[in-house]
Amino acid sequence: MESMEDVARKAKNIMIADTMRATYAKRRGQICRVFACKIQDNKLSNDQRTDLKMIFVEGKWLYNAIIAYGDREGRSISDYDTKSTSVIHKDKDGNDVTSTYSYLPQSLRQTIHAGIKSSLRVLATRKKRGYKVGALKFISRLESVDYKQLGVTHKILGKNRVKLQGVKGILKVNGMDQFYGNPDMEIANAKLLSKPDGYYIAFTTWTDEDKIIRKHKNGRTVGVDFGIETSFTTSEGEKINAAVREQERIKRLQRKLAKQKKGSRRWWRTVRLLRIEYQKLTNRKDDLANKIIAAFTENTITVIQDEMLQHWHKGLFGKHVQHSVLGRVKAGLKDRDDVVVLCRSIPTTKLCTSCGKLNDMPLSKRTYGCECGIPEEDRDVHAAENMVWLYKHNVGVGRTEMKRGEIREAVEKALEEEQTRWQKDR
Ligand SMILES: [Zn+2]
Repeated sequence: MESMEDVARKAKNIMIADTMRATYAKRRGQICRVFACKIQDNKLSNDQRTDLKMIFVEGKWLYNAIIAYGDREGRSISDYDTKSTSVIHKDKDGNDVTSTYSYLPQSLRQTIHAGIKSSLRVLATRKKRGYKVGALKFISRLESVDYKQLGVTHKILGKNRVKLQGVKGILKVNGMDQFYGNPDMEIANAKLLSKPDGYYIAFTTWTDEDKIIRKHKNGRTVGVDFGIETSFTTSEGEKINAAVREQERIKRLQRKLAKQKKGSRRWWRTVRLLRIEYQKLTNRKDDLANKIIAAFTENTITVIQDEMLQHWHKGLFGKHVQHSVLGRVKAGLKDRDDVVVLCRSIPTTKLCTSCGKLNDMPLSKRTYGCECGIPEEDRDVHAAENMVWLYKHNVGVGRTEMKRGEIREAVEKALEEEQTRWQKDR
């Protein structure tokens, strides 16, 4: 006979599953965007500074305690009791000490535990697919904690005011105007991030797809790869050459100037003529950049990657980049609300979104292929298509920096999700 508790537990599980299914169905028609907003460092009180710091310290203790718990024979990480009010961790000399939590709220303890369990599931899937997988390792720094329930674990009190569980008082946060007060954007969970330059809150938002389709929009989501040779390649296979070459006249004037006596009347005249020519060149670059921006923003969503353009100024491709309008287009795109910027550390060129493998892609290799058997295609089109895939699976969206392991884990999770979705649809 089933006990009353069993019946109640089963009913609750069914209810949770139903809610999850409903949320899942709703999310399918929605577009996800993540906004990483910086907590204003100079507005933090000493108490808040301590709270934030200690959440990550105690969080690290817990993370490592859970891993250590699972390392012991006959124990499963799933059984770790997050309700316990104390945690075993190492002191400076490497000895075990037991501390009572003073800062890390219960809700965050649960999400840290849930995060580890989810990482283990990803590892198990990888293993099943025949990959060599390691075990989860102890960490020296915890970098993010999850706030799962808006209104409970975290509250948004104004366009730059946030209350987080575990942090005293109200936090002042920059950049929330990107979504605050927008009735079409539903704010979901948040992540508190600890970065070298301070603390961030990354808010996940959801918008109905049909609400995003605005006037003059073509309803498409297009990825754009900022290349070197052709400048732009879209996920639809379009290549746009945006190089504006210096004209002969400029070169001639420069040669003339070099021969003239510096500061002389003729020299000044040449300088004036050169300035005019450079201004014309700048105008041409601005015009072309504006035309390209206008073309891209006909798309409902344009996905780009936040690469480090300044690196290209140096070295082999320096000259070409100088003459192109790449920087102008990027600057014009990156702050728009119909443009999604992906984290720069994701290797969009190397990634295979069919199997999750990273294939080496030296610049000489113009086509992309993978041993999993996907059809070969142009390397830049492949990169641009990957951007759309990453955006649709919410990998690296709006994040400033992701580590290799984090990226791999997120891609694995997305692939797994895609597989379950596919099985469900059958
Ligand atoms: Zn592959």
